[in-house]
Amino acid sequence: MTRTEKLLAELVALPSVNPAFAPRDPTGSAAPRFGEKNVADFLASLAGRAGLDVEFQPVLPERSNVIARLAPRATARQTIVLAPHLDTVNGDDSQFVPRLKNGRLHGRGACDTKGSVAAMFTALCELAAGRSRPAQTEIIFAGLVDEENAQAGSRAFAKGRFHPRDRSHSLLAIVGEPTRLRVVTAHKGSAWLQIETRGKAAHGATPEFGKNAIHEMARVVEALQGDYAAGLRRKSHPLLGHATVNVGAIHGGAQPNIVPDHCAIMLDRRTLPGESDAGARREIAAFLRGRKLAARVSGQKAAPARPLETEPGLPLVRRFLESAGWKRPAGAHFFCDAAVLAAGKIPSVVFGPGDVAQAHTADEWIAAEGLERAKNLLVTFLRSLG
Ligand SMILES: [Zn+2]
Repeated sequence: MTRTEKLLAELVALPSVNPAFAPRDPTGSAAPRFGEKNVADFLASLAGRAGLDVEFQPVLPERSNVIARLAPRATARQTIVLAPHLDTVNGDDSQFVPRLKNGRLHGRGACDTKGSVAAMFTALCELAAGRSRPAQTEIIFAGLVDEENAQAGSRAFAKGRFHPRDRSHSLLAIVGEPTRLRVVTAHKGSAWLQIETRGKAAHGATPEFGKNAIHEMARVVEALQGDYAAGLRRKSHPLLGHATVNVGAIHGGAQPNIVPDHCAIMLDRRTLPGESDAGARREIAAFLRGRKLAARVSGQKAAPARPLETEPGLPLVRRFLESAGWKRPAGAHFFCDAAVLAAGKIPSVVFGPGDVAQAHTADEWIAAEGLERAKNLLVTFLRSLG
């Protein structure tokens, strides 16, 4: 077992399920499963032993980002932030027992994204243990909380004091997520919208005296999945393809013999770089008005999930692409911390072992080979920076 695999197995065995997925009042044996604290404390103690500077950045009660820093020998001229998240989605008990089988490590978080945590952290420890630490490159490992829910960890980090003061100082965050070792410079954003239709209640025996909000919503859904979605398919991003719309929930009416006076749907509109949540909301409202459909559109996210688009020509991005053996960057469909850091003026790419196809599944796994390759690619890149 390599050091990276061993660390990943230890991380899987320390559950860190996002508390947003906890039952209202988690008690008894299930309670220690929630929150990132155990993993953050464990990494902090390992980082201390590896000779790294360690600190906690408080984000939410009992939930802190863990920051481990390798200072260069001379004055830092550039900073690389290795930024995977520490939280996972929930799973059943068996998923918190890591199992190595046929070259794969199974368990909750193996791929999303404790595999990246293990690869990034081990790479940093290897550099710290080497005879010569980087001359002018500062490397920061930032284990972030809350990615799977509201990205409070990356929002706090982006606001923190980790920005270099000097303008000539270059900066790149490599956000750990399963990208099959591709270097991702663009991903979609995700706007959650609610649409409501209003009607007029009447007796089910005399529907002609009422106005049926569900009928109106049926026309809205038909128009969105039809002409609106077709319109989205006409505009394409080179790395991401087209934007999409999915109606994911519908509620309306109370019982068969009442004409419903209210209906609501929730939809997920995946946005392309250049689009905003508010823009998507206005676009849909205007589309429905144009069809004479009376509906109210409102935003449903407390914090926006923006799209990511990082300039692949930035020197550090170019070097990382080259070092990882890619001619071109890739795009990803999933939203992640990278967009949050980028919005906070930290140029960000996404990179990590594993395939997002295994993320959040009942049998999550990662190939040990990819895990080790990710660690080696990071070591090579970081060493090359000098
Ligand atoms: Zn993830």
